[in-house]
Parts: sequence; structure tokens; C-alpha cells
Amino acid sequence: MINIAIDGPSGAGKSTISKLAAEKFGYIYVDTGALYRAVGLYAVRCGVDPQNAEQSESILRDVSIEMIYVSGHQRVYLNGEDVTDDIRTPQISKAASDISAHPAVRQFLLDTQRKLAAENNVIMDGRDIGTTILPDAQIKIFLTASSEDRARRRYDELIAKGEDVTYEGVLSDLKQRDYNDSHRAASPLKAAEDAILIDTTGNTLEKSVEIIVNTIKSRIDCI
Ligand code: C5P
Repeated sequence: MINIAIDGPSGAGKSTISKLAAEKFGYIYVDTGALYRAVGLYAVRCGVDPQNAEQSESILRDVSIEMIYVSGHQRVYLNGEDVTDDIRTPQISKAASDISAHPAVRQFLLDTQRKLAAENNVIMDGRDIGTTILPDAQIKIFLTASSEDRARRRYDELIAKGEDVTYEGVLSDLKQRDYNDSHRAASPLKAAEDAILIDTTGNTLEKSVEIIVNTIKSRIDCI
């Protein structure tokens, strides 16, 4: 199987770019953030504090998450309920970031991610795919952009969805999440040593997709 790992901070365009690239190559796109979001959603619904390690660990036995692919599009099921849309709110972004810091949560989601990669050609995006989940991935890309650029994209997405947010609020949430993701002890966000670094600051989406697709093409021929 071909495994392509795309890691990087929030809002660098990872999911949109990975999705389009996966379509081009006919691979499955796996958005691993959705797994952490589903656990975060469950915690919020149960009134559990996602920052509390013990409480977060205790809910895991009641959580079952499935990724289902409908015409190549990922849908996320939490205990049998399709929560694909419910996990995309600022509240759940924060809960996912908090809950993802606990080693027990990361361990809980490890097999789901490895199984998908063992059974399919995948482009998998996340924070620790190239370093921890798929250290043997044939291609690893670390995608980043300036925080202002990333916040602007996130802000535009949220406004388009009708969320009541300000650019300053989105920027400060994003900086907080960057800090949490790169400073946690368990699998912090960092580029794998053999990752190709790509900075999308100032690029149009089309330009970023073109760069990633060309990067993958040039490597895939050598696999
Ligand atoms: O990618 P997305 O923003 O949807 O991820 C939500 C949160 O899940 C991130 O802020 C990050 O803390 C966490 N996450 C993670 N490891 C991954 C994917 C996401 O810790 N592989």
C-alpha cells in the first residue's frame, strides 16, 4: 500500500489540499483530526472536561468511532451516529485540541489510523502521522503557513458556515492550539526528519495543490 503522511499546524490547508490530491491519485483521504474531534465531542456532550486526563480516559471505553467512505468522502460516526458536521465548531476544535494531549486518547486512536493505512492507499493528514502513526510512510510532507494566513482561511471558512466569530478571536484560538499541539509531551506536532517542508503562505489553493501533487508525483515514480 502507498501511505502518504501530511502533517502540519491547523489551517495550513492540509485537509482541503490532501482531499484534492487524494482524488487525483485515487487514494483514500484520511482526516485524523476528525477522530480527535469525535472524542472531544463525546466529552463535551458528557460534561467531561477535555483538559482532565483521568476524566477523558474514563470515557474512552464508551466511545466507538468509525470512518466510513461514501464516494471517496469521509464520514465520521460516533457510537453509530453520523457526527461529520457536528465536529466542525470552534467549541469542538478546542475540545479536540485539549483531549488530544492525553496519551491514552492518542493510543486509543492509533489502531484505527494504522488499520486504514494498512488496508488502503492513503493520504493521511494530522500532526504526528509521519513521526508516530506511519513512520514508514513512503512520502511525508510537512505543510505550514504563517499564523495570519492560516487564521484568515479558518475565519473565511467559519463565516461561510454562518458562525459568529471575529478574525482576532480565530487568530488567538489558532495560536493557542499551535502552542498546545507543539508543546504537549505525547506526540507533539513536529516535522519528521525525512519530511518535505512546504510553506503555503500567500499561495492560492490551486497553487498549493499543484505543488503537493507535483511533489507526490515526483516521489511516487521512485517507489
Ligand atoms: O486537524 P484538526 O484541526 O481537525 O484537528 C483537531 C485537533 O486534533 C488539533 O488541534 C490537534 O490538537 C488534534 N490532532 C492531533 N493529532 C492529529 C490530528 C489532530 O493531535 N493527528
